[in-house]
Amino acid sequence: MREHPGGERGQLLRRCRPVLATCVMMPRPAPEPTSLTRGFWEAARRHELVVQRCTACRVYRHYPRVLCPDCHSADWQWTPVSGRGTIFTFTVTHRAFHPAWVDRVPYVCATIELDEGVRMVSDLPAEDTARAEIGMRVEVFFEEQPDDGATLPRFRLCENPPAYVVHE
Ligand SMILES: [Zn+2]
Repeated sequence: MREHPGGERGQLLRRCRPVLATCVMMPRPAPEPTSLTRGFWEAARRHELVVQRCTACRVYRHYPRVLCPDCHSADWQWTPVSGRGTIFTFTVTHRAFHPAWVDRVPYVCATIELDEGVRMVSDLPAEDTARAEIGMRVEVFFEEQPDDGATLPRFRLCENPPAYVVHE
């Protein structure tokens, strides 16, 4: 039997294309800011990535916490960071655990180590799913959500080479 170009997967994609073209993705769950996290989300709305920084010992921290994990000071301020970093680790998710992700699988969920040393979790855009590798450089971008007006900081691969050097 003659194989069609693209095989079964190609046929499946061709069959699905008209459906996908008219499909509207379900929005992601909206963040629910607290008194401790509100500054992070307000900065994101301004397209600015901020993390807590201890005013006593100057250490950055993320996720938001009341006390500094290094010196236990309760004094801190929101501090803008570069929004650039590397993929520390990642997984590829093939099963949606929430209806909003049904049309997004497979997708990469990555732990990003910012150049300032703190780590954040982000999914990567669909076009980065097959390319993602540990150590690759990433940068933040800001995605406006429909209806509720929330802005999500997310990360995508940079065009720059990875931070590490591979010797052949
Ligand atoms: Zn401290």
